[in-house]
Amino acid sequence: MKVIIIGAGIGGLSAGIALKRIGHEVRIYEQVREIRPVGAAISVWSNGIKCLNYLGLEKQVAKIGGWLDAMAYVDGLSGETMTGFSLRPLIEQVGQRPYPVSRAELQLMLMREFGLEDISLGTKLVDLEDDGERVTARFEDGTSDTGALLIGADGAHSIVRRHILGAAPERRYAGYVNWNGLVAIDEALAPKGQWTTFVGEGKRVSLMPIAGNRFYFFFDVPLPSGLPNERAHYKSLLGGYFAGWAPPVHRLIERLDPDTTNRVEIHDIDPFMTWAKGRVALLGDSAHNTTPDIGQGGCMAMEDAVVLAITLQTNTLGIEDALVRYQNRRNERARELVLRARKRCDVTHAKDIAATQAWYDELRREDGSGIIRGIASNIESGPLG
Ligand code: FAD
Repeated sequence: MKVIIIGAGIGGLSAGIALKRIGHEVRIYEQVREIRPVGAAISVWSNGIKCLNYLGLEKQVAKIGGWLDAMAYVDGLSGETMTGFSLRPLIEQVGQRPYPVSRAELQLMLMREFGLEDISLGTKLVDLEDDGERVTARFEDGTSDTGALLIGADGAHSIVRRHILGAAPERRYAGYVNWNGLVAIDEALAPKGQWTTFVGEGKRVSLMPIAGNRFYFFFDVPLPSGLPNERAHYKSLLGGYFAGWAPPVHRLIERLDPDTTNRVEIHDIDPFMTWAKGRVALLGDSAHNTTPDIGQGGCMAMEDAVVLAITLQTNTLGIEDALVRYQNRRNERARELVLRARKRCDVTHAKDIAATQAWYDELRREDGSGIIRGIASNIESGPLG
């Protein structure tokens, strides 16, 4: 069966690998000529890694993954540790280590595994037609392709979603701006095998190890949307937003390279349950656009890919039927995680300052078991347990 996938992000590539593994012919069309992932790195939690393992990438992802053994929250202003604990109990409970990874390295790993020769770069989908037997994709450059089904893995601004829903849902600004990048690991910033998060004033500064002796860092600051994005001012702006914060935070601001730092205004979309229509289905951010507050957007895209392949392989009542079954197996979980992330986002970023203060107080009483319970429940409710 010939499958057309729109978008060569984490979702489209994972789906491409999964569908090729069960014998389908797959072609991926990607609008950009050169893939430059938005964001420096990503934490792939154990549910996402299990999907990559299922796709045969166990050794490769372990090679690009950072070694995360512990987690700590630090009072951003005083520098005092609020809670710090081992992640060993989490890893033992869920049966797989999480790996923070460079986005560029993850992307390259997935592209190579899928097969570079089957990806058409610089080919933007502008229209599609489903005649009940075949789907035809039409591209901006005047070319077209036809397959038995089409998967829209075309991200948060999806065109395929418009075909499925008949309208483009509003993206909701989550109320904060995120700056992220990579710096060399240095214990003067944070312990090397630890995910360290400085919190205070509804802001957040986080460091986690990835391979190659690098920390993935990010800063979150509650701000209005639409402020100017001026690279030359990143350091002075962050210096101002974090005035009075502990020395490691200022050391990080001094060391970051503005030319390789990303600035993202964080959005999500109200969950919706229709992901399939005829021979066309959504996958990844086109189906569920979440804030990154529980680090599950990319992991869910990988889960979608695995469930889509299994559903197409194990159901024999036709493609339309299989795509609706895929939708029904995924949409409730995605809805739950998008709303969970939104709730966490509001508490972390001081939407209600009293709730945020209560969370800071709770962190000071935390021995790790409550946080591990929360992360484990995000992981264990996934399709691979
Ligand atoms: P995308 O990565 O957006 O890929 C879509 C692709 O489709 C793009 O390459 C695009 O160019 C292409 N495309 C779009 N339209 C067309 C068209 N018309 N024709 C052809 N091609 C098209 N997730 C985690 O799991 N863990 C994390 O720690 C994490 N951290 C995050 C931090 C931040 C700051 C942000 C913003 C997100 C984070 N996420 C995280 C979420 C994660 O990045 C996304 O969920 C994931 O990248 C979605 O992958 P995707 O393939 O669905 O979409």
